Amino acid sequence: MKPVNFDYAAPESVADAIRLLVEARGEAKIIAGGQSLLPLLNMRMARPSLLVDLARIPGLDEVRLSDGWLEIGAMTRHAVVEAHPLVRRHAPLLAAAASFVAHHQVRNRGTIGGSTAHADPAAEEPLALLALDSELIAEGPDGAAKWPIGAFFRGPMTTALADAQVLVKLRVPCRGPSEGWAFREISRRRGDLALAAVAVWLRREDGICRDLRVALGGVADRPVRAKAAEAALRGCAWEPQIVDKTPALLEADIAPGSDVHATADYRRAVARELLVHALNEAWERVGELSPHC
Ligand SMILES: Cc1cc2nc3c(=O)[nH]c(=O)nc-3n(C[C@H](O)[C@H](O)[C@H](O)COP(=O)(O)OP(=O)(O)OC[C@H]3O[C@@H](n4cnc5c(N)ncnc54)[C@H](O)[C@@H]3O)c2cc1C
Repeated sequence: MKPVNFDYAAPESVADAIRLLVEARGEAKIIAGGQSLLPLLNMRMARPSLLVDLARIPGLDEVRLSDGWLEIGAMTRHAVVEAHPLVRRHAPLLAAAASFVAHHQVRNRGTIGGSTAHADPAAEEPLALLALDSELIAEGPDGAAKWPIGAFFRGPMTTALADAQVLVKLRVPCRGPSEGWAFREISRRRGDLALAAVAVWLRREDGICRDLRVALGGVADRPVRAKAAEAALRGCAWEPQIVDKTPALLEADIAPGSDVHATADYRRAVARELLVHALNEAWERVGELSPHC
């Protein structure tokens, strides 16, 4: 199918993009890499009168360190997130998650900001951002807005972003040597969206799990934390009998659905299995990370 007719604008500043969005009164859509939006346009599930392309705005694809944070511009492509030395060094969980996104062609076009704003509950990068306790910065007609990632995802494909707000950057706290991470997923074919995926970040000191964040994808209407499992492990020595009990705790935090790809029970079973592997992998990995930036 073909999209309905639309106008196209490629502003050269965030301020101009916001102005165009405000003038369109809810009829415009931002386009970043187009990898999710274009299929929606072609199927006429989105019918904007104007596309506001962020591609010509300088600085939106910068990756840099700032005061203990890794800052990633919203227009940074998945392929850059996957390969960038600063991401691999300070947030390797995020780089690993990006490597699971689709195929090279999609990773070369799609952006981390687009994936986060699109908020597919099975997308990989939002999971890593959630496990890493990231924050998101947007600009809009009323100025800048900031959300902890846990407050950003509101439902299936729904976020805290208002109509004329542009997500401009994602901030990830830099990680250090006492921390470990793991990303695991099962999809029907390599490059498909996950049937279930798990991102784990933890901090280990003196053989104790001092802190832990587990994010799950594909098993709820948005990326979710495994809060019951986290609580069971936080403050504990890493005993297999404790870790092996965590899958049973997932029930409180997930609500998978059935679709043509998998039943709810299958997704639940996959998430349980992935969780134990990812937890142990993260625990073993402590020590690999360089000191905080
Ligand atoms: C064949 C195929 C396979 C795929 N497989 C996967 C996969 O396995 N895992 C995965 O995670 N994704 C997958 N995707 C989706 C892909 O990752 C997209 O790149 C991503 O979802 C959207 O990013 P984008 O930059 O292309 O955004 P776009 O498609 O341009 O935009 C998506 C939505 O976000 C909004 N938006 C974009 N940028 C901003 C911004 N800065 N501020 C506010 N709103 C914004 C747009 O208005 C639109 O509503 C796949 C896509 C394809 C085509």
